[in-house]
Amino acid sequence: MRALVAVDGSNTAETALDWYLECLHKPENELIIAHAGEPPSIPTFKLFAEGAAFPSDEITKIMAEQNKKMDKVKNKFALKCDQKKLKYKLVFMMYDGEPGESIIRTAEAEKCDAIVMGSRGLGAIRRTILGSVSDYVLHHSKMPVLICPKK
Ligand code: ATP
Ligand code: MG
Repeated sequence: MRALVAVDGSNTAETALDWYLECLHKPENELIIAHAGEPPSIPTFKLFAEGAAFPSDEITKIMAEQNKKMDKVKNKFALKCDQKKLKYKLVFMMYDGEPGESIIRTAEAEKCDAIVMGSRGLGAIRRTILGSVSDYVLHHSKMPVLICPKK
């Protein structure tokens, strides 16, 4: 089995990975841990592309901040997997459009058999059972999706 576990920095995503490791993982499985990082806002890039007086060190700073955020998530999961002596692959990218779209595209490109993720993430709005990313993946994926509830 090739499983893609989609993670953000939330405890629920970590719960999803824990559930996968406890209930589904076998030593011969391939584990892909994927994260779709938020790209710098479109107005930022638009201004830049239109040649607005936009200091280039400003865009470098914005990119560095985004990369730092992604590295934090990356290090958290890499440390956890290393401690458990797991074989895994990290796929961390900045999404274009919807994060869920990038997750599905990665799972397809990596020829995965299933996507495992949490029901909620870091978002603050809690009016629905599913967050927008888990909702998107559940409704658009052509492969099985397993969603672990928030504790
Ligand atoms: P919203 O983002 O709509 O405010 P939320 O943050 O509570 O809501 P989601 O973002 O849908 O909920 O998160 C649900 C699960 O989706 C997370 O537990 C994680 O497994 C996965 N996930 C969320 N964001 C990403 C991401 N950017 N990259 C990879 N996986 C993600
Ligand atoms: Mg979210």
